[in-house]
Amino acid sequence: MDSASVRFVRKKTRQVMVGDVAVGGDAPVTVQSMTTTKTADVDATLQQIYALAAAGADIVRCTCNKPESAEGLAHIVPRSPVPIVADIHHQYRRALEALEAGVHCLRLNPGNIRKPEHIKAVAKEAKDRNIPIRIGVNGGSLDPALYKKYGDKVTPEAMVESALQEIAYFEEVDFDLIKISVKASNVPLMIEAYRQLSEVTDYPLHLGVTEAGPPPTGILKSTAGIATLLAEGIGDTIRYSLTSDPVDEARMGRALLESLGLRERKNVDLIACPSCGRAEIDVYEVAQQAQEAFADKQIPLQVAVMGCVVNGPGEAKDADLGIAAGNKRGHLFVRGVNVAVVPEAEMVDTLVEWAEFIKTEGFDAALARAEKTRGAARQAAEEDRQRNLDDKGEDANSSEQVVELLKKNR
Ligand code: SF4
Repeated sequence: MDSASVRFVRKKTRQVMVGDVAVGGDAPVTVQSMTTTKTADVDATLQQIYALAAAGADIVRCTCNKPESAEGLAHIVPRSPVPIVADIHHQYRRALEALEAGVHCLRLNPGNIRKPEHIKAVAKEAKDRNIPIRIGVNGGSLDPALYKKYGDKVTPEAMVESALQEIAYFEEVDFDLIKISVKASNVPLMIEAYRQLSEVTDYPLHLGVTEAGPPPTGILKSTAGIATLLAEGIGDTIRYSLTSDPVDEARMGRALLESLGLRERKNVDLIACPSCGRAEIDVYEVAQQAQEAFADKQIPLQVAVMGCVVNGPGEAKDADLGIAAGNKRGHLFVRGVNVAVVPEAEMVDTLVEWAEFIKTEGFDAALARAEKTRGAARQAAEEDRQRNLDDKGEDANSSEQVVELLKKNR
């Protein structure tokens, strides 16, 4: 089986529509994030929503904690490039106002709203408008009665029971446009809670590790929890909850789905060699520059930055486009074919320029573009390859010498 044909089998869930974005069923897994602006500040919030959408967010949540926030939503929703979810805490009036403002989804826990007539009013209004609601159980704010019942501990069982109680509030009033999350900041707890929940419900699941913290550990924790579940086929929509610019959340969410093959590649997948004694450039530095240069350019290609022309083109032959360093110049290759040679200082700019060309004109046009230079490019790469081998020998990392030394010193 080749790598492209490996696919995770997803657990079948019901489907709800968040605006024009389907969540659950056979819909692709979606990326969510949340604005950090005051929702009443319409321009700042819209600016952030556009940045989040450009970074890969399919759905964006905004808090709706004040009457002014609902008024802000009335201006934001019609101008937003992606569906908007209103985050509601205890006040059912904010939920009704957010619905009136035209939001595409609510996030609230009926248990927090308490009064049955208020829960009923929100559910009826949401149902009439065909608007789904996410129930968000959080390990850190578990119902005290459940906490006590499970031995003064937050357990996966307690979180699942809490979710089922919240679902029951809605089902009693005949509302089933539901998504659910059972987030925790503890990764094993979160994983197990979602596993157990997916056994007992077929409502779509929103995955996340709550309060994951700042990068890089926040990213690592979120990835550990979310990726484990996605690989088991669990999860319909995801959010990285990072203590950082929410654009990072959207970017990370999108990158995770692309790396798991759950979404079509939208942005560049940058690969780079780990560098070694044969490298002719500072691979970390050039890879970092390339990462920044591509940023959110939305070029769906795999691009390689390789430290030497001896092994680089071979090791990255499956990349769509790549550059390998050799003797103060960069050897550019398209799907393994040498196409051009450029000065070292122009390596990153050249990668970006060719990636943009391939995006608009295609691979055949890129190879045709290089028809006259291909022969000379291959020749130059061979010369630099030979020079590197002559300079550094077959064992550029001196590994064999070290092994000999180790043996001698025994
Ligand atoms: S051999 Fe070349 S491509 Fe491979 S790690 Fe070393 S520098 Fe990078």
